[in-house]
Amino acid sequence: VDLEDTMFPKDKRPIIIAGPSGVGKSVLIKMLMEKHPKALERKVSHTTRTPREGEVDGQHYHFITKETHSMMRDGDELLEYNNYNGNDYGTSRKVVKDITAKGKVPVMEMEHHGIQQTRDNGFTARFIFIAPPSMSGLETRLRKRSSDSDEEIQGRLKIAQDEIDQSKLEGSYDTTFVNDQLEETYKQLETYIFEHDDSAKDA
Ligand code: 5GP
Repeated sequence: VDLEDTMFPKDKRPIIIAGPSGVGKSVLIKMLMEKHPKALERKVSHTTRTPREGEVDGQHYHFITKETHSMMRDGDELLEYNNYNGNDYGTSRKVVKDITAKGKVPVMEMEHHGIQQTRDNGFTARFIFIAPPSMSGLETRLRKRSSDSDEEIQGRLKIAQDEIDQSKLEGSYDTTFVNDQLEETYKQLETYIFEHDDSAKDA
C-alpha cells in the first residue's frame, strides 16, 4: 500500500489557492493531484479565455462562450466569477459539489476577486496565497510561457502587483508561501494541507 495515498487532510474544508499569474500555482496543484488522487481533486474552472497550446477542454478548463458564462451567472450556477484581463472565469457550484460528494477535498485555483466573493458568500474554505520571490522573476516566468502576447503579459503583471498588495492585508489569507524553490514550496504546501487544522475556527 502506498502510504501517501491513504493520507487525508485533518482539516476537510475546501482549499483555495491564489497567487499571481506565473507564480507556479498550477504546477503545485498538479503535483498535489498526482500524489494525492484519493484525497484531493482539482476543481475545473469555467473560462471564456482561448485555450493555450496543450490545454484540453474539460481538463484544464471548461472553455465556454461569453453567452454561456452570462447564463451560468444569471442562473446562479456560479459560486464566484470574475473578469480577469479581459476574460471571464468562474467556479461552478455543481463542479465543487460533485467533488465533495466523492468524499474528496476540492482544490480550487482563483484570483483575488474570486476569493473575496467566495468569502463574502460565506463559503467555508482555507485560503492559501502563493507569492513570487520577486516581480522580475515573475516577469521572466510569464515571458517563458511565451504563448501570451506582450500586452497580455503587461496586464498580468499589473494585476499581480495588486494581488500581492491585497494578500498582505490582515485576514486576506490563512497562510502565504513564497515560491522560491518549487520542491521546497511543494513540501511546505503539502504539510500545511495535510497536517494543519484550523477548522475549529469556522465551526
Ligand atoms: P489563466 O488565464 O492564467 O489560466 O488564469 C488567470 C487567472 O484566473 C489566474 O489567477 C487564475 O488563478 C484565475 N482563475 C482560474 N480559474 C478561476 C475561477 O474559477 N475563478 C476565478 N475568480 N479566477 C480563476
